[in-house]
Amino acid sequence: MEYPFSIQKLIEKFSKFPTIGPKTAARFVFYLLQQSKEEVLDLTKSITDLKQNTKKCESCFNFFEDQNSEQKLCKICSNPQREKSLLCVVANETDLMAIENTNKFKGFYFVLGGTVSGLKKESVEKLRIKELEEKIKNNAEITEIIIATNPNSDGDATALYLERMLKLFNKKITRLGRGIPTGGELEYADEETLISALEGRK
Ligand SMILES: [Zn+2]
Repeated sequence: MEYPFSIQKLIEKFSKFPTIGPKTAARFVFYLLQQSKEEVLDLTKSITDLKQNTKKCESCFNFFEDQNSEQKLCKICSNPQREKSLLCVVANETDLMAIENTNKFKGFYFVLGGTVSGLKKESVEKLRIKELEEKIKNNAEITEIIIATNPNSDGDATALYLERMLKLFNKKITRLGRGIPTGGELEYADEETLISALEGRK
């Protein structure tokens, strides 16, 4: 038996979300059916605004809020007070947020756009490797590149790949220090742990 078309269609949409299976997707849809019309309209507006009002920064590739301006850089990249010598490479936007929220890192970021999974060729091709090389080439002030990937197998594979690739730039390359448990993820690490991992980088 199938759900009515409109329900089934939305279940399929939600099922495409990361970590969401069809059962959870169905729960989302029935939750929405219980909400008021205003509530649902507000949600659809938030989704439309998401695409309309956010932009990807041309320097770090993080998203930032911008409504119809010519602004090309996010608040971090356009801040002259930040430390130009430090570049922190993260796999995705949530990792950047976790590090930025410690208020301890004053350098710049680069969002790689994912990790190398088991050194599969396709996974490498999806990453912003060329853009990262360009950024390092065009910013001679950078002296240290911090590879802030998760201490799990994909994070380690990514770090190794980057270390090898970045060698030719002759910069100091460091990784986050211990503190985040092996197999853990930085976006779930508490602030203290992240700060000590940042300070203990080597
Ligand atoms: Zn930026």
